Amino acid sequence: MMEYHIGTILVGSLKYDFLKNIPDYDVFNVEGIVQVLNYKRTGYGAEIFATYNDKKPKMSLLYCSESITLSDESEQNVDLYFGGRYYANKHMYILNDPLSYVVKKFKSRYVKAVDLFFDSACIHIVRKEKIDYFTYIPLKPKDIKENKFDRFKSLKLPELKNGNIRLDNLLKCTKDFSQKGNDLYVRREVVKGTFQIIENVDIENKTIVIIDDVFSTGSTIFEAAKTLYEAGAKKVIAIILSVNQLTESSIEYKNLKCKVCGSNMRIRMNNNTGELFFGCENYMEHEEEKNTGELIPGMNALKKKNKFEIYEIIDLLDEF
Ligand SMILES: [Zn+2]
Repeated sequence: MMEYHIGTILVGSLKYDFLKNIPDYDVFNVEGIVQVLNYKRTGYGAEIFATYNDKKPKMSLLYCSESITLSDESEQNVDLYFGGRYYANKHMYILNDPLSYVVKKFKSRYVKAVDLFFDSACIHIVRKEKIDYFTYIPLKPKDIKENKFDRFKSLKLPELKNGNIRLDNLLKCTKDFSQKGNDLYVRREVVKGTFQIIENVDIENKTIVIIDDVFSTGSTIFEAAKTLYEAGAKKVIAIILSVNQLTESSIEYKNLKCKVCGSNMRIRMNNNTGELFFGCENYMEHEEEKNTGELIPGMNALKKKNKFEIYEIIDLLDEF
């Protein structure tokens, strides 16, 4: 299923170098986007690229809203904003994904791009509604003991600070846990009761933004949101740098192979013309033409190889 998958919808034709992923859907007009999104699959967020003019597109935040159940069985909504995709090391994807690289780096040191992402995402939300607190997912006790890099504390958030807004530490993590290799249901159990509101903070009737770096099944961020709601929060909004691509991308990805040396072909750009083409790792050393492929035929070959098809709703119903 497509739970929490970020897809790409391309409007128009493949032309520019901003495309990092094979589009899930090529559409040719706004009605086409609506049709795709009307599949209404849980957790399918789509970045939409349009090639209507020569300007490079601006990335926007992906938004969705999820309902969570509190201990008293009541329901609350969490608004989620996502920055982009995260591919774990095992994923073979068509291009090395720049955001995944940044996410990995941020685990151990300050990264300016991450700082600017959170800063502008927070500012975007401040412009839309009144926020009482900005907070983050705290380190686990073991990490504090081992003096692990506290990544969210390293953020400078320059624009937020200009507006006299700080990132506050509202939550305390009370136990060590690991989510590695756990499925969704185990993850939800493992994280239960992990967070506590730190002393002397009044959460009652407050609107709170909480930030984190990777969203996999949502267990951690939803548990944190639950803790805040149960302490009386009015509204919880989450900003997450990236969404772990657990579905489509965790299947084996079949690359195009070079006919000369057998290495993987990937999309490359001709620096002079800006044109995109497929080239292998050693294409510079090969004789001309033998080792490169045109973009559109290459994309089509890849789609065919990896069976990136649009499934009709009726097919899904039959299967599940
Ligand atoms: Zn080659």
